[in-house]
Amino acid sequence: MSGNLVFVGAPGSGKGTQASKLATNFSFEHVSTGDLLRAEIAKESELGKKVKKVMEDGQLVSDDLVAELLKANLDLDSKKYIFDGYPRNLNQAKTLDEIVGNYPYQVIFFDINTDALVERLTNRRVSRDGKHIYNLKFNPPKVPGKCDVTGQDLIQRDDDKEEVVRNRMKIFHESIEPMLAYYESKGKLLKIDAMGSPDEIYNKIKAVLE
Ligand code: AMP
Repeated sequence: MSGNLVFVGAPGSGKGTQASKLATNFSFEHVSTGDLLRAEIAKESELGKKVKKVMEDGQLVSDDLVAELLKANLDLDSKKYIFDGYPRNLNQAKTLDEIVGNYPYQVIFFDINTDALVERLTNRRVSRDGKHIYNLKFNPPKVPGKCDVTGQDLIQRDDDKEEVVRNRMKIFHESIEPMLAYYESKGKLLKIDAMGSPDEIYNKIKAVLE
């Protein structure tokens, strides 16, 4: 697989899980703007303090702040990336074009119905560093409440609580359509049906990329 990948999909559509897996198997770097922002909050940096409340409410962080943070964490000359959670609107899609310049990329849209998503997200649990993702119904940890890999307690992200999830879905729908139209017009959009088990979805992604 050559070039970078941009994963677009509603919160909980499975893009983070798939990005981790593809990154491991095909030597991509997985860059998630949500993880970068959560790391800033954990560090209690100036940026972290600015974005904490916005994120807890399920709102989007300002385009400029996210773009700066993303740029500071990329090395496009030597690495291939899977962008997860960026871009989230048309303005960010255009900014990403400026950031990647001539490096090629392909967009994968994880298409899924919203009710299924609310169920997925409210059942999601993650390790403290956000790297290991479980679902109480579809992908439970071996020992309840503990990460299979690190053995540490699993947590529910504040923004995975039901009311916040519904708010995030609303924001997602409002901002996604113009962005998808943009990618379609550039011939960069690949859609996959994101219902199904993680393995099924992984195989679908491999099939569309090959
Ligand atoms: P995620 O982990 O991708 O679901 O992102 C969690 C939260 O981080 C979002 O609800 C936003 O508050 C913030 N965030 C992540 N990526 C972006 C982005 N590209 N633009 C604005 N806010 C973002």
